[in-house]
Amino acid sequence: MSKRVVVVGGSLSGLRLVENLQLKGFEGQIVVCSDEVVMPYNRPPLSKDFLTAGTELANIQFKTRPTLSSADWRLGVSAVSTDVARSTVTLSDGSELDFDYLVAASGVRPRPLAWERNVGRVYRVRTLTDAERLREAIRPGFRVVVIGGGFIGGEVSASARALGAEVTLLCPSAQLLQPALGSVLAQKIMERHEEAGVDVRVNERLPEVNADAARIELASGEIIEADVVVEAVGSLPNHEWLDSELLDLTDGVLCGNSLRAAGSENVYAIGDLARFPNPMFDDVPRRIEHWNIAVETARRAAQSILQVSGTQPSETVADFTPLPSFWSNQYEYRIQAYGLPRIADRIESLEGEMRGAPIMGYYRGDQLVAVAGLDNGPQLIEYSREVGK
Ligand SMILES: Cc1cc2nc3c(=O)[nH]c(=O)nc-3n(C[C@H](O)[C@H](O)[C@H](O)COP(=O)(O)OP(=O)(O)OC[C@H]3O[C@@H](n4cnc5c(N)ncnc54)[C@H](O)[C@@H]3O)c2cc1C
Repeated sequence: MSKRVVVVGGSLSGLRLVENLQLKGFEGQIVVCSDEVVMPYNRPPLSKDFLTAGTELANIQFKTRPTLSSADWRLGVSAVSTDVARSTVTLSDGSELDFDYLVAASGVRPRPLAWERNVGRVYRVRTLTDAERLREAIRPGFRVVVIGGGFIGGEVSASARALGAEVTLLCPSAQLLQPALGSVLAQKIMERHEEAGVDVRVNERLPEVNADAARIELASGEIIEADVVVEAVGSLPNHEWLDSELLDLTDGVLCGNSLRAAGSENVYAIGDLARFPNPMFDDVPRRIEHWNIAVETARRAAQSILQVSGTQPSETVADFTPLPSFWSNQYEYRIQAYGLPRIADRIESLEGEMRGAPIMGYYRGDQLVAVAGLDNGPQLIEYSREVGK
């Protein structure tokens, strides 16, 4: 009898999962539920070119293969609950779907600060709609306050400067991009922001705001006036629709190395939502919000489903050991990292200088767990081969 795969989340990881199943001969039914109303698009440009270059949706939408049309894409429909024991998922249109295999690909959403009420002036960047709204709001000379010193906060700050806005960047730690990159690269990037005219404030605890977020009060008592406030203070997994009785939903969906969710026989999680162990480093399950991990986990989960559904022979599969990789564009810099810098206990300069910044090696004990640099792609790729050895 024909098997049914239900995928919740129609973005990068969901799309790649469908492609992998179809390309490798899965002949059952595939239903994709996406709470967005458009076919999958690429998120990284949303904080970069999409804001500055007037990019349109068509330019960032993924090219879809003709075979994809044979999957049943239900756009604008979200999953609201699941019953893992009965293998059913309930959708926002009131329907209930049985599944043989369920794939949770619902990603993350921005972590909100405690000022939901100020929505008129407060922006986030996760979806196309978020980015369109922010792009409309930023005008030359406007005062933009970005809260959060991570990659998205840095990218939005650089984009807002490119659009001619006055930018204040409030960073909760002592340097930008901490603990992601370590102090050498972080210092270089912070200097570049300052050179571009961004007012970078470090060690800023999350500020108080007045009712319409037009006045932001810092811990020092200083008031900053804002036309636009962008929150970029991390993310929360979209897992509320999943069955918390049987699954471990502590920070995403806990999975084994095959991406099958702990506590289930037929539920898988992929992309930003999946918390899985990577034996390249250790057996600690982690969520990794990188584009390449969405692609790799989709491929691995598809392989699992192809085997358990009998589409492919159940041979022993090697451990899933994807090398995380990440990039960020800020000004003329392309920041790139391979591995997991955040698990390092020691950071060393490995080589030379590119735009005044060396390639950095991140070690845990004797193991090189990551390398990172600015604009040194080819050398970094060479070093990345040593990561996890
Ligand atoms: C602004 C921005 C810039 C980025 N830049 C970079 C970068 O430079 N480099 C890099 O490596 N990575 C970057 N990333 C991260 C990368 O885009 C993500 O890792 C990737 O999108 C993860 O894909 P995903 O499919 O797991 O999740 P998502 O892309 O988040 O997709 C999840 C989908 O599920 C939907 N959904 C949620 N709940 C439900 C529900 N209950 N029912 C139905 N649908 C649901 C969501 O609306 C969404 O469409 C960036 C992300 C953002 C937001």
